[in-house]
Amino acid sequence: MKFGTKAIHAGQEPDPSTGAVMTPIYQTSTYWQKAPGDNQGYEYSRGTNPTRKALEDCLAALENAKFGLAFSSGMGATDAVMKLLQPGDEVITGNDLYGGSYRIFTKIFANYGIKFHFLDLSDPEIVSQYTNEKTKLVWVETPTNPTMQIVDIEAIGKITKAKNLLFVVDNTFASPYLQNPIDLGADVVMHSVTKYIGGHSDVVMGALMLNDEDLYKRLWFIYNSCGATPGPMDSFLALRGIKTLHLRMKAHCENGRAIAEFLKTHPKVDKIYWPGFTDHPNHEVAKKQMRDFGGMISITLKDADLQETFRIASNFKVFTLAESLGGVESLINHPATMTHGSIPKEVREKVGVVDSLLRLSVGVEDVEDLLEDLKNALA
Ligand SMILES: *Cc1c(COP(=O)(O)O)cnc(C)c1O
Repeated sequence: MKFGTKAIHAGQEPDPSTGAVMTPIYQTSTYWQKAPGDNQGYEYSRGTNPTRKALEDCLAALENAKFGLAFSSGMGATDAVMKLLQPGDEVITGNDLYGGSYRIFTKIFANYGIKFHFLDLSDPEIVSQYTNEKTKLVWVETPTNPTMQIVDIEAIGKITKAKNLLFVVDNTFASPYLQNPIDLGADVVMHSVTKYIGGHSDVVMGALMLNDEDLYKRLWFIYNSCGATPGPMDSFLALRGIKTLHLRMKAHCENGRAIAEFLKTHPKVDKIYWPGFTDHPNHEVAKKQMRDFGGMISITLKDADLQETFRIASNFKVFTLAESLGGVESLINHPATMTHGSIPKEVREKVGVVDSLLRLSVGVEDVEDLLEDLKNALA
């Protein structure tokens, strides 16, 4: 089945009890048992719920995976993956990560004796260089947030396979429409469903998709034991959002391209980060592993201090100044003080997250209105 058909149908059969075409919201915490242990596959909703199950099967299908697990946030999903590790284990990851991922690694899991190496993964060979007998996991985000670096998933997958390391890709920025890391050699795909998959800025949710049954069982054990699982109403909203994922992504990409091209030559723009430009340092890798280049664009402003950057960021009428991304509405964000505020200044500035950086999540409004808004705000 092709992507759009899976987005609409995967995991969803008419409800067996009523024939309802849309998966019902099974707003129940518990399930009737005929005799102790004799149930219809559902016991308690922390572990399993029919609405969530439909969503998880759909999510798995979108990433060409056998198994899906939904979590109450992207961070809940990340937390579950890290709980596969033991004190003393080491993790290799990128040097430009979502702020919350950096925070959970350095402020939570470092306290449990796990060591993290934050590296520039644009040369995949660096993974071999830093691997020792304690290395267990490689965590990659691509495109990175917010500087849109591209990491070669297939090249890293070859190394992790040879060295028997678990390879996880945070695929939030690309969405499953643009990139499928499991096809390229990843073991687990992580998503913040909050972003493109949900797509309407009305749900906070995370997901893991994977093929290995033993690993799925271990992750399900953590999910059920630790309990960061989403409720049926949110699962329903995510399922509803997914039905238009392919349509939305086409529009995000189209608007993203028009806006990136407009900003590239704008006199107020210093640097622009968007993997669709042929002069982006990893454009060829992006072309190889992504279907298109998406609607996430970051820029730095010319001769702008923090005050001037704040002034411009507050000047928009159609773009909304807010954290998050991937919704139908366009958002503008100031990473240094908003999404990446938990990363120390000297660490973030090294990878380009400077005070004059703004990140755009280009929505699916009419592009003329978005261009007009940018023109006015930057004037
Ligand atoms: C938002 C985000 C997360 C965290 O997801 P939540 O749903 O906010 O917990 C992780 N990775 C990336 C790339 C994100 O953008």
